[in-house]
Amino acid sequence: MKRRQFLGRLGSGAVVAGAGLAAACKPQAPAPQAAPAAAGRSTKPVKWKMVTTWPKNFPGLGTGANYFAELITQLSGGRIEVKVYGAKELVPAFEVFDAVSRGTAQLGHGAAYYWKGKSQAAQFFAAVPFGLTADEMNAWLYHGGGMQLWQETYAPFGLVPLACGNTGVQMAGWFNREINTLDDLKGLKMRIPGLGGEVLARAGGVPVSLPGGELFTSLQSGAIDATEWVGPYNDLAFGLYKAAKYYYYPGWHEPGTTLECMVNKQAFEALSAELQAIVRGAARIANQDMLAEYNARNNQALKTLVDEHQVELRALPDEVLRRLKTLSDEVVAEVADKDAQSRRVYTAFRDFREQVTAWSNVSERAYLDARAGVRL
Ligand code: CA
Repeated sequence: MKRRQFLGRLGSGAVVAGAGLAAACKPQAPAPQAAPAAAGRSTKPVKWKMVTTWPKNFPGLGTGANYFAELITQLSGGRIEVKVYGAKELVPAFEVFDAVSRGTAQLGHGAAYYWKGKSQAAQFFAAVPFGLTADEMNAWLYHGGGMQLWQETYAPFGLVPLACGNTGVQMAGWFNREINTLDDLKGLKMRIPGLGGEVLARAGGVPVSLPGGELFTSLQSGAIDATEWVGPYNDLAFGLYKAAKYYYYPGWHEPGTTLECMVNKQAFEALSAELQAIVRGAARIANQDMLAEYNARNNQALKTLVDEHQVELRALPDEVLRRLKTLSDEVVAEVADKDAQSRRVYTAFRDFREQVTAWSNVSERAYLDARAGVRL
């Protein structure tokens, strides 16, 4: 997506929200020198770097990071400029966390489950197998205590986390063999990150963690047998249909993956309260916007995959899903035993999932069933 289009998208709700944000934080006096935030500070813009785990400008994820950067600059009236780097441009994808932690870059855009080697608890802030949908994740983070736990989890690394995008429900992935029973996963070498990967291992598969940019080649060369990535919009862009025959759903392992922005704490605290509010507000807008984009684009891309590329779309059998859920509940519960913070986060997550499921069953689920003309 081109830069002009990001700016174009600011023309609707984002500008209204941004104006409200600015109105709430900004003094009414128009003269720049009258603004307390600028008092005693240089008028030169703050120049930040944002490293990302995505290929540069990759649809949805990379462009979502770009959009967030543009929002910060626009809402701050140019007082913060952000230069965005794709994976490998400044640091490799999986070094984003360390790069922002040590201050090589001030911002990072990625997904928290990539950092389980730093903190097992981090995984709860991206996606949990059979966990929360996008709406439920936002409910937990913004109004259910989740964000505070995320901040606590990243604080030892000098990082401030922000929710900064969501893919919605993902797809189960691309396979060259049919999945009829759990045994069909045995020995399967599959790219699947985070807790979903551990569940696959429990089912006898071999999980591999690879950045998105390496998926197509790895699948085509046979270095991996199967892969999940995101959903039709992104999977079409990578051409994964050229390397695998079957496209399975649903993405039991990633039911609503939150993308993150991590901010170097020292750099964040050097900002005025107003600019901090702008960065937080920009993340909220970007978080909501990405989900809307995925929901709008996935259905178009799915049609292209099926109609133009003859992809075989398959549902995972109920029995396979039931067994994956049992394994998932075991794997996720075991994260609580890793350390005290993981136990705190797991317990809070489990309790929230239980509560919100009771509501979702009589709201979203009941409605979607009714619209489809079925009752599960
Ligand atoms: Ca995925």
